Amino acid sequence: MKKLPGTIIILFCFILAVQKISTQDNGLVNTSGSPYTQLSGVNLDDAVWTRGFWAERFEICKDSMIPRMWRILEDPEISHAYRNFEIACGKETGTHKGPPFNDGDFYKWFESVAGVYAITKDNGLNQLMDDIISTISKTQREDGYIHTPVTIDQLNKSSDKKEFQERLDFETYNIGHLMTAACVHHRATGKNSLLDVAKKATDYLYDFYKRSSPELARNAICPSHYMGVVEMYRTTKDPKYLELAESLINIRSLVKNGTDHNQDRIPFRLQTKATGHAVRANYLYAGVADVYAETGDDSLLTALNLIWQDLVQRKLYVTGGCGALYDGVSPEGTSYKPSEIQQVHQAYGRDYQLPNITAHNESCANIGNILWNWRMLMITGKAKYADIMELTLYNSLLAGVSIDGKGYFYTNPLCVTDDITYTLRWSKEREEYISHCNCCPPNTVRTIAEIQNYIYSLSGKGLWINLYGGNTLSTTLKDGSELKLVQETNYPWDGDIQISFMQVPEKEFSIFLRIPGWCNEAEVSVNGEKMDLSLVPGEYAELKRNWSKADKIKLILHMPVKLIEANPLVEETRNQVAVKRGPVVYCLESVDIPEGKKIFDIALPAKIDLKPGLISIKNSDIVCLEGKAEIADNSEWKGQLYREISKDNTQPANIRLIPYYAWGNRGHSEMTVWIPLKR
Ligand SMILES: [Zn+2]
Repeated sequence: MKKLPGTIIILFCFILAVQKISTQDNGLVNTSGSPYTQLSGVNLDDAVWTRGFWAERFEICKDSMIPRMWRILEDPEISHAYRNFEIACGKETGTHKGPPFNDGDFYKWFESVAGVYAITKDNGLNQLMDDIISTISKTQREDGYIHTPVTIDQLNKSSDKKEFQERLDFETYNIGHLMTAACVHHRATGKNSLLDVAKKATDYLYDFYKRSSPELARNAICPSHYMGVVEMYRTTKDPKYLELAESLINIRSLVKNGTDHNQDRIPFRLQTKATGHAVRANYLYAGVADVYAETGDDSLLTALNLIWQDLVQRKLYVTGGCGALYDGVSPEGTSYKPSEIQQVHQAYGRDYQLPNITAHNESCANIGNILWNWRMLMITGKAKYADIMELTLYNSLLAGVSIDGKGYFYTNPLCVTDDITYTLRWSKEREEYISHCNCCPPNTVRTIAEIQNYIYSLSGKGLWINLYGGNTLSTTLKDGSELKLVQETNYPWDGDIQISFMQVPEKEFSIFLRIPGWCNEAEVSVNGEKMDLSLVPGEYAELKRNWSKADKIKLILHMPVKLIEANPLVEETRNQVAVKRGPVVYCLESVDIPEGKKIFDIALPAKIDLKPGLISIKNSDIVCLEGKAEIADNSEWKGQLYREISKDNTQPANIRLIPYYAWGNRGHSEMTVWIPLKR
């Protein structure tokens, strides 16, 4: 055999090494090759929940949420979402029914199946996805266009409806979710079947935007496709997809007579505030973060940083909820002329405008904030973004679905009372199917199906632990070496976390532990020896050494019960407190106070001793808080707006607080997060 020249051998070894280094390209959001990121995620099946809080939620997602939602989606008498695809591909006859964004919401549910399949490798799910893809792919036009409302109309010749004619037809929203679902499916199964459909659709969008007018750019309602197009670029490496993503952001600057509602009144790069429809806003911010991760365009990151600051300092609920207003007026509009005032709905309000009973906080907006903050975490490596993710995951995300996985909320208020004299538009009881807008339920399901992908991330220095929960990790570090470890903890119910190694590379590398922003006292030990480390709340602590398989890391995050107050500019919560323990926000439900009393009669003494206890709600063991509050002996407010206060009419009363996410799981009840403080 002829000997290979040395340079070729070196080149060959280099190619092999590069291939090995780039094995982490099957993550949920694949930033492994993104030049302007500090971190990237692990592969879809690297981290698996084992025991504890999130393992239980994952099981409920797999066994209850996903199959129940499939039965609803495939039943044309209830949802018509799947039937629309069957009609569009010619398998069935009929007309399109349901909202125009039904396709996108179906893709979100499909993505949750792929997310679960990545972990379970369940053949039944694989087959189900194959069958569904076979139907979806047949609804695609030769030119790549795919959107059942228009396709069915054109098939039936019932109107002369054309693509992208209706601004509120949500075509790009639907196609965006197709792209994301296709990338997750491809990474979970190795199959190209849905990815090929998504490629054709992305090519269609590329050609469409080449010839479209700036006016048509306004059709980007609820822009899931910014994230989708960038993820298609990451999956296929086709540079024209990145070109498309950049042009989609840039074309927004050309919109004439835009609105804050749709975040296009002023060019994105000049924006400094979280504004308008909160789902659209957060999807936009997440998509822009994706474009920055690939291009390094600083003007995009500057705007994102200012908007993020505005959100967390002035507009975010204590539960992580986003979007205070049902309906309102843009506070940022340029004119006070009545005819020019811009309406917003389901939207961010003014600074510090955070009402509780009428808080909108759409589940999709809260999820959009998770998607955005994950991307900011990958870009910067800063724990403050993981803090927001954790806050949202434990509180405003989980409140959107019942503990048994059967019912969903569209809005997530912080107070519910039977005494209001008006009707709120959205139900305050969870529903299995939200008939006029079922966007939130499948979004909630796909998020819960995919949380394990947020636990860890990687950099050239080692492994970053972002979230805590019982799980195993089997991954490949950036240099190609293998790492296996086990995380054991009862988090969030206590803050003791143990990490044991099962396989470690023989070299020095770092483990970065997130010290949550809420944690003022933490301890780290390795093999029982306390580490002399600077543990700063809201930052990662770096443990760098040559690890051995026998090493054990113990992290203790002390989590005393805390009473939280809001900036006094939040008028709605002045002289009230919220109760928090670790990352979990608590609430008071009417079933947990003495009979005949109202939740508004309860006040918490500043020195109240709230002790953790256990309660089982819908077969889930939950840590509640119990203590002695004060209860006022208030008479009824009969037709009064104001009255003189009664003095010395309070009595001690035993109360129980439960996590906010668990409210509304024990029959009809009233609920409040903010409770008056008795100083
Ligand atoms: Zn929604």
